Amino acid sequence: MAAAVFATVALAAVAAMLSAPRLHHAAPHHPWYLLGAAGTTFLIGALLRPWSVERMGWQALLGDAFTVSGYVLMALSLGGLLRARSVMQRHAIIDGLIVCVGAGLATTLLLAIPAASIEGRPRVVSVLAGLYPLFDVVLVLLLVSLAFTTSGRRPAYMLLLCGILLLLAGDLAYAIIGASGHLTGGRIIDVPFLLSCTAIGAAALHPSVADLTRPTSVPVQTWSLRRLLVIMPAMLVPFLLIPLVEHGHAEHVALAAGGTAMVALLVARAVAAVRDYADAQLKSEHQATHDPLTGLPNRLMLAREIGRLLSTAPPPKTSSAEVAVWVLFLDLDGFKLVNDSWGHEAGDHLLVEVARRLRDTVPQPAMVARVGGDEFVVARLGTRQETVTLVEQIMERLNAPVQVSSAEVVITPSIGVVGTTAGMAPVPAVAAVTAEALMRDADTAMYRAKSDGRGRWTEFDASMHERVRERVEIELALRQALSTGQLHLAYQPIVELGSGELVGAEALIRWSDPVRGPISPAVFIPIAEDSGLISAIGRWVLDETLRQVAAWRADSLISPDFWVSVNVSPRQLRDPTLPSKVSEALRRWDVPRSGLVLEITESVMIDASTVTDQVLFDLRRLGVKMVVDDFGTGFSALGYLRRHPVTGVKIDRSFVDGLGTDAEDEEIVRAVVAMSTALKLTVVAEGVETATQQDVLSTLGVTVGQGHLWSAPVSAEEFTERWLALAVLPEATQDAAGSS
Ligand code: C2E
Ligand code: MG
Ligand code: MG
Repeated sequence: MAAAVFATVALAAVAAMLSAPRLHHAAPHHPWYLLGAAGTTFLIGALLRPWSVERMGWQALLGDAFTVSGYVLMALSLGGLLRARSVMQRHAIIDGLIVCVGAGLATTLLLAIPAASIEGRPRVVSVLAGLYPLFDVVLVLLLVSLAFTTSGRRPAYMLLLCGILLLLAGDLAYAIIGASGHLTGGRIIDVPFLLSCTAIGAAALHPSVADLTRPTSVPVQTWSLRRLLVIMPAMLVPFLLIPLVEHGHAEHVALAAGGTAMVALLVARAVAAVRDYADAQLKSEHQATHDPLTGLPNRLMLAREIGRLLSTAPPPKTSSAEVAVWVLFLDLDGFKLVNDSWGHEAGDHLLVEVARRLRDTVPQPAMVARVGGDEFVVARLGTRQETVTLVEQIMERLNAPVQVSSAEVVITPSIGVVGTTAGMAPVPAVAAVTAEALMRDADTAMYRAKSDGRGRWTEFDASMHERVRERVEIELALRQALSTGQLHLAYQPIVELGSGELVGAEALIRWSDPVRGPISPAVFIPIAEDSGLISAIGRWVLDETLRQVAAWRADSLISPDFWVSVNVSPRQLRDPTLPSKVSEALRRWDVPRSGLVLEITESVMIDASTVTDQVLFDLRRLGVKMVVDDFGTGFSALGYLRRHPVTGVKIDRSFVDGLGTDAEDEEIVRAVVAMSTALKLTVVAEGVETATQQDVLSTLGVTVGQGHLWSAPVSAEEFTERWLALAVLPEATQDAAGSS
């Protein structure tokens, strides 16, 4: 009857273990199948035991054979759980062995040796009976290790631990009884085993079993108080037991063997700790000096390497065949576009690929480092000729397309090059050349290369310093100009070609610096773009323009369809709040949306990111018009115009220039008109200077123009006087244009 209850409970527990993977997606599956197998084997062992203890010879061992197999399967199962999660660390294994030796010595001395001396049954059976608690200790150890690596103490884990502790309790009781001569206890002995089965079965059924193999970020520590609390008693076992046990031959052998094993393990533990410490040291040194994404050296290590090269390089001579230290500063063109359009993962993939190609192309012992987002630096010792060849090889290698997400992108680098040879670098006193100075100069040369266009390389020369300083000064002055009101707007009329009648105006920024005099927007707008100052300037231009339009409207000087063009730079279009700023400004000055045209450059459409696309779309939805400025100078393709919400184009003045003399320009304008008609876009001709150009444009079907033929950009007052306050005749304006 009792055996039937026992078997039923055990079988139910086995069923629960086997169902855990399917029920709660506990992965991997095999530890649970092994656990089920262990349960089954235990059950067979337990059922056989009463029968087998009555027998002699191999039959007496049958029960134990199953039980021991059960332990092995269970250990494999827990090991499987542990393996699924983590690599076992050396010191964790040694700690486990120390505890096992301690427990083993204790059970041997206290339980196994006394049991073995009992007459009338096979010795193996007696020894095994004494050693069962040791098996449980191994299981507990495996579980404790699992706790170090899994997420928290979830119910499934606690149940599993309870189950194994109950098994330990049962085995201890059994072993103590065994040491006094019995091999089967009363029914009471079965209770811990029964509860153990139930607990482990419940663990398998609890939803948190899936967490057992879920990783946590808790690092496994080399030493901790908790670990020490487990190991210390184990180490003390041999000493504590000496006075307690009888001093027979077997006891001496066990003590000697256990003590020796313990000492050996402690030595191994010390060695492992030292080795782990050294490894950790190396690893943290590596982390501090390398970029985690590409594995390349970082800025810190690069600076050290350049410093080292500088100290080994021969002093610069005038001949360019001399060996010198060379620094190549690479920046990827359009990397931001990849990041914005395809996401950071694609960007990372691209960087890793670039790093790989660089490492492949640059021969040892030159260093390739990553010093910033999309910035790489190569540092080497060599001649100028070798370096130039290397730069060209790098250019070629990086120009091959890279597969990013679903697209192939070609990413070109801009490279700045600087060497310590005389004539190249600013020929400073040798001692003054520092790693930082070389990197800064290479960076400057890189910027120079970038501003010349994509995919170029430039060698540093001293005049670049001058230009950099000038830019910095202009930026500073511009910042002040903005805050002290030194900026103004000029307005250039936009007229109907045939009648010369005013239809709109373009607002153009003007800056006159007290020291430098007037500075062209073509000079300071790019600087404002680079420094980010353009956002504030753009906001001011928009506000000032709308204020002026509102004033003209209030004085009834302009017709309801008069429109004003404002230039918007690419950087402004990357600001997602631009549409709401524009809308707010229009509302503030009570200017109708149809009265505002934003001029964007072609590059905006070509380099469009998802942010820019959204901004353009929102602006268009707002009701403002958008025209492509300087049309034809970029790589405008029909596709771009169709894909973006633009309402018109402004034909660049370089094409207008040749009208009447250059047949090719005429063809281009004709094509632009045809394309714009097809796409229902408005066309404005820029930079119209002569009556001939005006006539040709008219014949080609362009109806609206802007240029010196009618008027240069003029101040608001002059614009009001000449174009709004008086009814101006076309002849009179032509005279005015001549005098401006
Ligand atoms: P843009 O938008 O293409 O402006 C037209 C430029 O051509 C103006 O130069 C104008 O003075 C000049 N122009 C007009 N008619 C003629 C002509 O018949 N012949 C010749 N040769 N030139 C003519 P400006 O004012 O120096 O502006 C240069 C560029 O600076 C502008 O080109 C525009 O891209 C930028 N810019 C000007 N104001 C602003 C602004 O407020 N914001 C931004 N982001 N850019 C601006
Ligand atoms: Mg413009
Ligand atoms: Mg233009």
